[in-house]
Amino acid sequence: MDLRTEVLIIGGGATGAGIARDLALRGIPSLLVEKGDFTSGASGRNQGLLHSGARYAVNDPGAARECITENRILRRIAPHCIEPTDGLFVSLPEDGPEYRANFIRACEAVGIDTLPLSPREALSMEPRLNPKIIGAVQVPDGAIDPFTLVVENARDAESRGARFLIHTEVTGLIRDGLRIAGVRVCDRITGEEYAIAATWVINAAGAWANRILGLAGLKIGLALSKGSMLITNTRLSERVLNRCHPPASGDIIVPNDTVSILGTTSLRAEDIEHYEVTPEEVTFLVVELSRMIPDLKGERFTRAYAGVRPLLQSEETCDDREISRGFALIDHGSCDGIAGLVTITGGKLMTYRLMAEKTVDFLCERMGLRVPCSTHVQRLPGAGQGHTLKDRLARLRRQTPAARGEILCDCELVPREAVDAILREGKVRELQDILHRTRLAKGTCQGGFCVYRLLGLLNELKKDKGSGGSNVVLRGFLEERWKGIRPVLWGNSLKEEELIESIYKGLFNLAPEEPGRPGGGEA
Ligand SMILES: Cc1cc2nc3c(=O)[nH]c(=O)nc-3n(C[C@H](O)[C@H](O)[C@H](O)COP(=O)(O)OP(=O)(O)OC[C@H]3O[C@@H](n4cnc5c(N)ncnc54)[C@H](O)[C@@H]3O)c2cc1C
Repeated sequence: MDLRTEVLIIGGGATGAGIARDLALRGIPSLLVEKGDFTSGASGRNQGLLHSGARYAVNDPGAARECITENRILRRIAPHCIEPTDGLFVSLPEDGPEYRANFIRACEAVGIDTLPLSPREALSMEPRLNPKIIGAVQVPDGAIDPFTLVVENARDAESRGARFLIHTEVTGLIRDGLRIAGVRVCDRITGEEYAIAATWVINAAGAWANRILGLAGLKIGLALSKGSMLITNTRLSERVLNRCHPPASGDIIVPNDTVSILGTTSLRAEDIEHYEVTPEEVTFLVVELSRMIPDLKGERFTRAYAGVRPLLQSEETCDDREISRGFALIDHGSCDGIAGLVTITGGKLMTYRLMAEKTVDFLCERMGLRVPCSTHVQRLPGAGQGHTLKDRLARLRRQTPAARGEILCDCELVPREAVDAILREGKVRELQDILHRTRLAKGTCQGGFCVYRLLGLLNELKKDKGSGGSNVVLRGFLEERWKGIRPVLWGNSLKEEELIESIYKGLFNLAPEEPGRPGGGEA
């Protein structure tokens, strides 16, 4: 199979999907190639903070301005992906009043609304906060669901003519003299290799940007920074909580529907594919964040996960927090003499739309097209539909038991119909693809009960054969799940894990490969 397109996008994260949507809205044909599923890079492995920009106001006002502008746009175009919680920047005695004063001035300078709060006001809004706080400032932070955001960008783009190839890896760049004329790809499921010819190739591969550029002997200044996060079993606060001090590790708590996400660390990453959350990082996050919420230590944690940030770096620095969170659009035609290749990297989930707009503006200028961007006003298709657990519960309550049908995931209330609809679209190729498109297995039991129901359904529909059968898929899922829960296994989590291990061993004859490891191999 050999294909051709006008614009080939490498990477199905927020940036790539955003570019596909922007191109489609301007009537330019594109094809996006993603080596895993949508959101398998940093876009599915972040803290889900809808930044107001306040975090960067003091040290990186450019990034702060971008964040507040995009914050307002995303609330308009993607309200169903956002929980407008607001955020508190909380000062502890050791943070002192000076930074707080500086912080308020810096926020005002870039147009971020602030509301200074006394300790008593802050404590009445967030009773679990440390009673020793010396003050807080309210800003328009929020929480964002990256999975829905990315998948909806992709769906909308596809409905307007964009094409996607998931589980397809770019393995080579095709050169025609001093021009990139397309890519070579490999289907990671079937092993098929083929070429795709393109007038423009957009490298939106995030942390993998230099791997792609390496295929043409090019390189840009990128620092790779691993960040780890923990998920609690319950929601700790109504609002996002930040420490009011210079950005550091372990100083943000983001509420996410019924849970909270604690983060993050920042460590240089050597390997983009293989990394894990270490026990030291877990201890660090719990100890640091207990300064804001003292009773955090008694919480049950359901999972730990990590992602890798691509940070643009013009010079060496030891502290990744000092590197700007801004983004760069690099035309390798003018920078390196290799035409037809553009890299867009750095930035934040928050700024994905702006990154896409700048990329497509550049392409339009080169193509001699005068079609303006409209992604800042065109709402995503699901805008207006509630996505929280409360919304899902209300929808189910309105239905009769017959109309409601079978519920596959009890924690997240995912009905069988939601999975049937995805299977009918015929786009998913692996179990994880279904999990990325629903909330299945994202709840407190982390797939302990619902995944085997899903496998039963896939087996019934004969959709599990390509992956080697249900037991192979289940084992793969359990291995991934194990990576996420192993760092937080103590106390009640350990008890629940033992229960789940016995369910899997008993029902499916999956025994541990090594002592205490669930689902590692067959009995
Ligand atoms: C720990 C952490 C916390 C963060 N928290 C926040 C936050 O709270 N708020 C916020 O706004 N931002 C946050 N960010 C930043 C944000 O997640 C990223 O900036 C954003 O998701 C980057 O999106 P992207 O599409 O550019 O890259 P990615 O999402 O990484 O997408 C790149 C894609 O390229 C694919 N790819 C790579 N190589 C190939 C190849 N050869 N062929 C085909 N496909 C390929 C990858 O599989 C990947 O899916 C955080 C990041 C991290 C790591």
